[in-house]
Amino acid sequence: MSRIYLDYAATTPVDARVFEAMRPFFSETFGNPSSVHRYGQRAEAAVDEARETVAAVLNCRPDEIIFTSCGSESDNLALRGAALAVRAQTGADRILTSRAEHPAVSKTAADLEAHYGFRVEWLDVDEYGRVAPETVERAVDEKTALVSIMYANNEIGTINPIREIAAVCRARGVLFHTDAVQAAAYLPVDVQALGVDLLSLGAHKFYGPKGVGALYVRKGTPLLPQLTGGGQEGGRRAGTSNVPYLVGLAEALRLTAAEREARAAHVRPLRDHLIGAVLESVPDARLTGHPVDRLPNHASFVFQNADGNFLLQLLDAAGFACSSGSACKTGNPEPSEVMTALGLPREWGLGSLRVTLGAGTTAEQVEAFLAVLPDLVEKAQKGRG
Ligand SMILES: *Cc1c(COP(=O)(O)O)cnc(C)c1O
Repeated sequence: MSRIYLDYAATTPVDARVFEAMRPFFSETFGNPSSVHRYGQRAEAAVDEARETVAAVLNCRPDEIIFTSCGSESDNLALRGAALAVRAQTGADRILTSRAEHPAVSKTAADLEAHYGFRVEWLDVDEYGRVAPETVERAVDEKTALVSIMYANNEIGTINPIREIAAVCRARGVLFHTDAVQAAAYLPVDVQALGVDLLSLGAHKFYGPKGVGALYVRKGTPLLPQLTGGGQEGGRRAGTSNVPYLVGLAEALRLTAAEREARAAHVRPLRDHLIGAVLESVPDARLTGHPVDRLPNHASFVFQNADGNFLLQLLDAAGFACSSGSACKTGNPEPSEVMTALGLPREWGLGSLRVTLGAGTTAEQVEAFLAVLPDLVEKAQKGRG
């Protein structure tokens, strides 16, 4: 049986061109970029070039890019590094973030509250999972150290009005971070146009390798390093540079920016057809997230009284790899925090399904998925694991 992958929001395969760009840096060009000799110089040149490539896509200076080990680390460095540095300078101790963030942001904010004496305000989202700029405007004050709102939501695909939120923060002189890890595959990440101070990326969501990320930090933004040691990344993130992986991140991001429209044009009609057909063929189905302002490869649903985890198992057994939004794999499952933030009752929130398309998705695959889904949802409503 051929397997069909419909979980590109969880991760993507490495683009063959990206893999080729990385390959020399495992063996021939293996030097430590911090070394003085020629081996080091060649590796350092690759790191410099990768940094320039990322900076060109983000429309910023190369020294405003910090390479990290993943999207989660970028989020951690942004929140911890900026919040601690701002508080040390001004005494501001509030962090504003939304109820629909990725755990890399929400758990980090909660940790800063539990163990570092910050106060977190969890901003409400609307029924589509969007944060209104007015909500930020009402909450932000002179005691606010940092605002963090994601660019696009990984679970429900909704795109936030980042430009408007950034403008609100800038007018109040408050730092603004956005988690763009999910957004970067399809949305422009020009940090000047967006007006953000900090922006997180993770390569494996846009056909780069897992285990490498980047953080944009606007020049002049206070940031305390969270990994101390050698002076790498301008003294802001110690550790010998992962040369092949950051070369891979840069090449993946360059290709993503160059091919952005073509990639969106491939997935959008397939995704639109999928959403329409699911809502038509499955009773008790609702779309989650925004109907229009959503990532072009992203479809997400809830099915009333269905066991979302059981549905994923049934889909996997039928050859389809999808994802859900429930926090727990066995035992007593709870709807994800995002489902709860949308205001969905439990009997809907437990039956969530995320279907995300990508470069390898074909119309035949979508049809095959649509052919099996209604029966499997019915089973997941009756069977309950
Ligand atoms: C995947 C993801 C992350 C985490 O990135 P990793 O590189 O897997 O650590 C953070 N935020 C969002 C929105 C994501 O989709």
